[in-house]
Amino acid sequence: MRIIATAAAALVGAAGAVLAAVPSPLPLLRPPGAGEAAFFAARCVRCGRCLEACPYQAIHAAPLNAGREASTPFVNARSQACRLCAEFPCAAACPTGALTVPEERGGAAMGVAVINEDTCLSFQGMRCEVCYRACPLIDEAITIDYRPREGDAIHAVFAPQVIAEDCAGCGLCEQRCPVGEPAPAIIVVPTGADEVTYQALRNGAA
Ligand code: SF4
Ligand code: SF4
Ligand code: SF4
Repeated sequence: MRIIATAAAALVGAAGAVLAAVPSPLPLLRPPGAGEAAFFAARCVRCGRCLEACPYQAIHAAPLNAGREASTPFVNARSQACRLCAEFPCAAACPTGALTVPEERGGAAMGVAVINEDTCLSFQGMRCEVCYRACPLIDEAITIDYRPREGDAIHAVFAPQVIAEDCAGCGLCEQRCPVGEPAPAIIVVPTGADEVTYQALRNGAA
C-alpha cells in the first residue's frame, strides 16, 4: 500500500511540475491551517495525505488543468464543506508543515464568508437563516441582526451578519444556502483573495 501511495504522490507531483507555468484563474479554498498562499505554495508537496485523512472527503486535488495549482488540495464548499474537526486530522497529517494544526476551530483561517444582500432570502424579507443555523461557530461567526423592514411597520428582517474576524471559512453556510443561481447568497472568499475574486464568485464562477 505504501509503495502505491508513494508512486501516486510522485505522479501527481510530476504532473504539477509540468503544468507549473500555467496560472490559476481564481484562488482556491485551502484546507484548515494553510495560512498565506506563498507559505503554503512553498511547502505543499502534493502528497495527498490531507485528502486521505479527511473523514468527510472534503478535500480534493485540484485538476490538472488548474495550472500551477494542479494536484494541490482544495475544498469545494458548495459540494462538501469542511466540518472543522476538533483535532484537524487533515492538518495533523501534513508531513511538511504546509498545513499547521489550528489552535482552535475558529482559527482555521480558510477564508471569510460574504453575504450577497441582493440575493439573500432574508434580506428580501423572507425567513431563512439557514447559514446561521449551519455555522459551527453560531453566534460567533454569524449573528442575526433583527431590524425593521423598510416601509413595513409590522414585519422584521432577520438579516444574517458575518463577523469576519471570527469566521473560519469552513463553508458550511455556503453549502447549505438554498440560493443557487447564479451562485449561493453566501460565499467563502479564500484567504488572500481580493475583491475581483469575490465578484467572480458571486457571479457564479467556479
Ligand atoms: S477539519 Fe475535518 S472536515 Fe475539515 S478538511 Fe480537515 S479533516 Fe476534513
Ligand atoms: S442561507 Fe443563504 S439565503 Fe438563507 S439567510 Fe443565509 S445567505 Fe441568506
Ligand atoms: S464559513 Fe460560514 S459556516 Fe463557516 S465559520 Fe464562517 S460563517 Fe460560519
